[in-house]
Amino acid sequence: MLAKRLEGIAPTIFSRMSALAISTGSVNLGQGFPDVDGPPDVIAAAVAALHEGRNQYAPGLGVPELRHAVARHQQRHYGIELDPDTEVVVTTGATEGVAAALLGLVDPGDEVVVLEPYYDSYVAMMQMAGAVRRPVTLRAPDFRLDADELRAAVTPRTRFVLLNSPHNPTGTVLTRAELEAVAAIAVEHDLVVITDEVYEHLVFDVHEHVPIATLPGMRERTLTLSSAGKSYSFTGWKVGWATGPAALVGALLAAKQWLTFTSGSPLQPAIAHALDHEPDFPRELARDLQGRRDLLCAGLGKAGLTPRIPEGTYFAATDVAPLGWDDGLEFCLALPDRAGVVAVPAQVFYDDPDAPGAGRHLVRWAFCKDSAVIEDGVRRLQEADLRK
Ligand SMILES: *Cc1c(COP(=O)(O)O)cnc(C)c1O
Repeated sequence: MLAKRLEGIAPTIFSRMSALAISTGSVNLGQGFPDVDGPPDVIAAAVAALHEGRNQYAPGLGVPELRHAVARHQQRHYGIELDPDTEVVVTTGATEGVAAALLGLVDPGDEVVVLEPYYDSYVAMMQMAGAVRRPVTLRAPDFRLDADELRAAVTPRTRFVLLNSPHNPTGTVLTRAELEAVAAIAVEHDLVVITDEVYEHLVFDVHEHVPIATLPGMRERTLTLSSAGKSYSFTGWKVGWATGPAALVGALLAAKQWLTFTSGSPLQPAIAHALDHEPDFPRELARDLQGRRDLLCAGLGKAGLTPRIPEGTYFAATDVAPLGWDDGLEFCLALPDRAGVVAVPAQVFYDDPDAPGAGRHLVRWAFCKDSAVIEDGVRRLQEADLRK
């Protein structure tokens, strides 16, 4: 028994691999959740909200203090001015933001150009919305965006671009030039850009996150999604937000009101507190994460799995072909027995993992873990025989 709209959509790989980590006692370098929680005063703010009786339905738009805090955040970081009453909606994580954006905006048969490898919920939600997917591959090994390929993916039926930068699972941060190319195509073809920026603050080295909404001609055609999950290490709270012009945010809200209506009443004021009173936390998290990125990447290299150094996010991708594996899923299923480590096969994030530059042989590793966990994981990898 399964509705046709869900046919062919595999269960999310993260549940499968995390269950495997538990059943085999493996070090979980698969699913992207941090081992250390966000700031204690934000937790205290949530506890206070629970005691202060903020336990009934929040407004469908989200509590005013969080909508105002999100508007201030966008102003402070990016110079984007938003009306907190019409241009900001609180969502149940960015996941609900993606779902409500697609259900609220896309008509069956509309084509959506999407970067591939993609976050797996995009595919499920595009299918549920009746969208036709037009993937544009960030090709291994350098995972850059080819603007000509993006242009070639656009047809007269294309209405949307679904963007994600910093990009999960490749770690690519789209450059200003790459984003300008996307913007030029969007303006030329009158496309709406839905952009998932949950890793907006988790960028490393000299890389810079540029919200596409800040580029000329883009504010009026961009719906931006983000979340406190990654920026504040509260992935389980599922507090996210959508920002953009009232027409786009309103369409998202029109769908969102029938999904959850609202959620996380006591968590919303706590995240408002985080945005206003812990503005430096995400940058410090990024600095710390960069060290753990380096630990993981060096360790993977010593195990024969040299990654491309990620520019942002929680993740590094490696090619398992040099160890004799042509299938990353087979590698990941053997890994708990071989090494006591769990990673995620990237092939599930492609329409055609065998296309040129796609990822049948790619594996994603998370470095949002405690340093001791990463050290344990890479030691196990180095001690194991990973050759096929
Ligand atoms: C983690 C993640 C999400 C989900 O965000 P939530 O706020 O936890 O719902 C969305 N998009 C990408 C790319 C992610 O990595």
